[in-house]
Amino acid sequence: MVENERLKQELRRCEAELQELRTQPPAAPCLGCEHVQESTQLRDKVSQLQLEVAENKGMLSELNLEVQQKTDRLAEVELRLKDCLAEKAQEEERLSRRLRNSHETIASLRAQSPPVKYVIKTVEVDSSKTKQALNESQARNQHLQEQVAMQRQVLKEMEQQLESSNQLTSQLRSQISMYEAELERAHGQMLEEMQSMEEDKNRAIEEAFARAQVEMKAVHENLAGVRTNLLTLQPALRTLTSDYNGLKRQVRSFPLLLQEALQSVKAEIGQAIEEVNTNNQELLRKYRRELQLRKKCHNELVRLKGNIRVIARVRPITKEDGEGPEAANVVTFDPDDDAIIYLLHKGKPVSFELDKVFSPLASQQDVFQEVQALITSCIDGFNVCIFAYGQTGAGKTYTMEGTLENPGINQQALQLLFSEVQEKASDWEYTITVSVTEIYNEVLRDLLGTEPQEKLEIRLCPDGSGQLYVPGLTEFRVQSVDDINKVFEFGHNNRTTEFTNMNEHSSRSHALLIVTVRGRDCSTGLRTTGKLNLVDLAGSERVGKSGAEGSRLREAQHINKSLSALGDVIAALRSRQGHVPFRNSKLTYLLQDSLSGDSKTLMVVQVSPVEKNSSETLYSLRFAERVRSVELGPGSRRTELGSWSSQEHLELEPACQIPQPTARAHSAPGSGTSSRPGSIRRKLQSSA
Ligand code: ADP
Ligand code: MG
Repeated sequence: MVENERLKQELRRCEAELQELRTQPPAAPCLGCEHVQESTQLRDKVSQLQLEVAENKGMLSELNLEVQQKTDRLAEVELRLKDCLAEKAQEEERLSRRLRNSHETIASLRAQSPPVKYVIKTVEVDSSKTKQALNESQARNQHLQEQVAMQRQVLKEMEQQLESSNQLTSQLRSQISMYEAELERAHGQMLEEMQSMEEDKNRAIEEAFARAQVEMKAVHENLAGVRTNLLTLQPALRTLTSDYNGLKRQVRSFPLLLQEALQSVKAEIGQAIEEVNTNNQELLRKYRRELQLRKKCHNELVRLKGNIRVIARVRPITKEDGEGPEAANVVTFDPDDDAIIYLLHKGKPVSFELDKVFSPLASQQDVFQEVQALITSCIDGFNVCIFAYGQTGAGKTYTMEGTLENPGINQQALQLLFSEVQEKASDWEYTITVSVTEIYNEVLRDLLGTEPQEKLEIRLCPDGSGQLYVPGLTEFRVQSVDDINKVFEFGHNNRTTEFTNMNEHSSRSHALLIVTVRGRDCSTGLRTTGKLNLVDLAGSERVGKSGAEGSRLREAQHINKSLSALGDVIAALRSRQGHVPFRNSKLTYLLQDSLSGDSKTLMVVQVSPVEKNSSETLYSLRFAERVRSVELGPGSRRTELGSWSSQEHLELEPACQIPQPTARAHSAPGSGTSSRPGSIRRKLQSSA
């Protein structure tokens, strides 16, 4: 206990010291350093030791309690033994008293008996009375003798009892001594245990004390380390403070510096902007010059290529062509020259040279590839016309419109326009609008209008610009392929509801899709307008004079007239005549803007490859070649023009003019003369 008390005092002293250390101002840089961690570890250890001491105390008190209990038990046993001994003593005394009484009785009885004997002797000599008295005495004597025997018996029993009680006493004594020995032994054991416990306790206390001392020493050492650390940190803190003050001064002067830097940078930027502005002006000037140059070059290229290009497309043989000799193929190609096409007409081969010939194997994409450049030039503000020419069933509608799976020029052209416009969207704003019209019997109709049966007129613009316009013609703005599909469907529906026999009607009317691309250059404000006219012409098949009558003849005449007028206009344009007869048909009049000036025209001549159509094929190819050859040699222009008579459409006899294929002569009038040295294509190739 004294040791414990001493330890507690030591502990309190340590705690007080710790408390004192804690109350000292905390050194900020020491936070989280290893000394603090060490001191917390040590503190933990001290509290652990305290716990151990408390545990030992608990154990000690338990042992004390046990000893107390055992002592109590011993006292109890002793008390019991004492009681037993007292009882035995009492019993002994009682027995010895009884023995004494018995001895006394015996003695008294012994003392009484002689007089009785004497009486008996006297009685024997005495009378009967005495005798009786003797008898009585004898009886009494007898009785007394019996009593004595009985007493003797009792005495014997008592002696036996005494003996047994003596034995019991000795037994009890031996037991008591045994108990005592046991008690002695237990006491010894207990003392031993207490001794060993005391030793254990002392040892534990000593160990704990030693440990606590060692730990305290370590704590002290750590504290000393912390103190030295604190002392070394102070100079660092001083340098930090001076650094901080320096930075503060810098920060105070920073806005001034920044102001100066900003002013100089502003001046530099202003100068740079000025430079860029002048540069930009220069670039804009150059750009405008380049734009003009480009247009000039383009015009030159177009002039070189010819404003009018003619290509042929041969459709594949279909089921509708039937079987037998009539459905035999009569069209062949030159494997080395894709501008040549051969036709076997009435057993004789005829060759034609155009700008390009597409075989039945050519896909819609192949054909579109050829017209792509024309379509993009529309974005630059050029007007373009693409015609599909040929007899009914030769593939005009297939080439222009196509099918859902194989879209024709119409769809692909609009898709291309959309993507091109998208590409230029950063510099240009474009709007694309479409109109769908038809010319039937020289009557122009709006297929997108609410009243498609209404006749539309073509008028001169009242502003004196000489431009034409169609009052009331619907224009739809389109922004996606979806929009185009809707417009086409709408136009198609309008056309079918108007006419019951759609196939026949469409073969006798011209269908026009007019796409207008209006652009504005965002930087220069320059505006352009380009028109793309995609025309699916009426069937070019000739109707014999005798065969047709009534409305059929009227239709044929109208078709003939308009196709001839188209030929005339193209011829006049290519031969650069002063007067171009645009007004001779609704078609040419409507397309006047798009056929004249810088405009470009492509004629796709569609032909059927089968025998039964060979006359029409011949006619179509000759028409194509003529269109192509108009531009050749200035001297020959006049003479070539003579072939564009409206009569020719009705009365032409092709067979009489067919040249021999071996000579590679051409069916156009004047083709045999020296004024036709070679094809435009070849000219282009050599000039390129
Ligand atoms: P047109 O418009 O000249 O009267 P179509 O375009 O209607 O002729 O063509 C007649 C038939 O021939 C149609 O069934 C069409 O699908 C088919 N056809 C025309 N050209 C091709 C081609 N290049 N490939 C496959 N089929 C074609
Ligand atoms: Mg058609």
